[in-house]
Amino acid sequence: MITTEIDNLAKKVKSDFPFFTNNPDTIYLDSGATSLKPQIVIDAIVKYYEVYSANIHRGVYKASMDATEIYESTRSVIKNFVGADDDYEVIYLRNTTEAMNLLAFTLNKTKNQLAKNYQAWQNGFEKGDVILITESEHHSNIVPWQMIADEKGLEIVFVPILQNGELSQNAFAEIKEKLKNRCVKVVSLSQVSNVTGIIHNLEPFRTFAREKGAVFIVDGAQAVCHHKINLNEIDADAFAFSGHKMLGPTGTGVLLAKKGLLDNLPPFLGGGDMILDVTKTATTYNKIPHKFEAGTPDIAGVFGLRAAIEYLDRIGMDNILNWEKELLKYGMKKLDEIGVHVFGPSLSDLDRVEKAGVLSFNIPGIHPHDVGTILDEHNVCIRAGHHCCQLLMQAWNTSATNRASFYLYNDFSDIDKLVDSIGYVKKIFKK
Ligand code: PMP
Repeated sequence: MITTEIDNLAKKVKSDFPFFTNNPDTIYLDSGATSLKPQIVIDAIVKYYEVYSANIHRGVYKASMDATEIYESTRSVIKNFVGADDDYEVIYLRNTTEAMNLLAFTLNKTKNQLAKNYQAWQNGFEKGDVILITESEHHSNIVPWQMIADEKGLEIVFVPILQNGELSQNAFAEIKEKLKNRCVKVVSLSQVSNVTGIIHNLEPFRTFAREKGAVFIVDGAQAVCHHKINLNEIDADAFAFSGHKMLGPTGTGVLLAKKGLLDNLPPFLGGGDMILDVTKTATTYNKIPHKFEAGTPDIAGVFGLRAAIEYLDRIGMDNILNWEKELLKYGMKKLDEIGVHVFGPSLSDLDRVEKAGVLSFNIPGIHPHDVGTILDEHNVCIRAGHHCCQLLMQAWNTSATNRASFYLYNDFSDIDKLVDSIGYVKKIFKK
């Protein structure tokens, strides 16, 4: 049962999620970590095993050919969903993390093959080259770069955040000036922060990447689930996301990248499916996307991901974002009323700053893990920790926060329950 109206979207969709039938008293506020799955996604996964079950690409029999057809045509479904034209190719991976590693490690092996499309890439990575990221990145957009920076003597430059989690445009202007004569080879940032929910303006970063002839990469892990993406407009050279945060199965991730980039990168993993021809002395690689998809993939996962996209499309991404914004405003007001410190943009900032349904907060004097544990006793699931964003924690001078993240199936009563439970925590700790 699907609707395009946002007035109480949760009421309309909740019964689509079997989690709530099995856990009727649970308030799930951890969709930033992973979303719940609607029945049709689960059914699509089961259908693959029950009806097709065969491996793809290899079989000359019906079950294999039918499975291959669904698997392959899902690439267009994905492209339509994120507004990507034929310049882009879809690579199936396990998650966003794998996509970022693929990019870092294959770029690290590149010499001058990218020179035609990216003027910073006349040579491969050289000592002193710059990778520009931001302080608000998830570790998956930090650690792979650090791994290759160590090897090649690269400098990673971080655009700092303002205290409310926005990227500092003044600091970015200063950084650009300092990097005037430096070779910047990669500019990479997340579109939506998993800690603040801020939907960052990517345009200044793309402009800078283009000026420098760098590869422009966007981590879309928290973006695809919350709002409509127009990848043609974003014009990223590479854009990565995970299926499990957008109602799809775990173990499914997608890298959308421009053919002009992928054609000139070496493969990431070697093995079956990614080859055209193997001899004792050499291998000819398959064409993209297969060159980057070694081995048997998560076929059932792709079936599930397709069902998730079709479900989200029917609801409408704008309706989801609008609903999250309603929840967000309500939650921020309520937390403010009981003296809880919310990190990130303030209520008044929301007139200016676009933000998805994520609330990071701390109760002064109470460790987030204690809060999370006590909330669990009240059947309220939130996350407590650094959220794989330790640089952001350091910028805020804290080691951890609590995080409540909303999605289409949450409603105002979930927030009331959160607030009541926090009130109980404060009472126990006499705060
Ligand atoms: N980037 C962001 C912004 C994220 O929120 C996450 C997941 N928390 C990731 C990357 C990594 O996603 P995955 O664990 O699915 O690889």
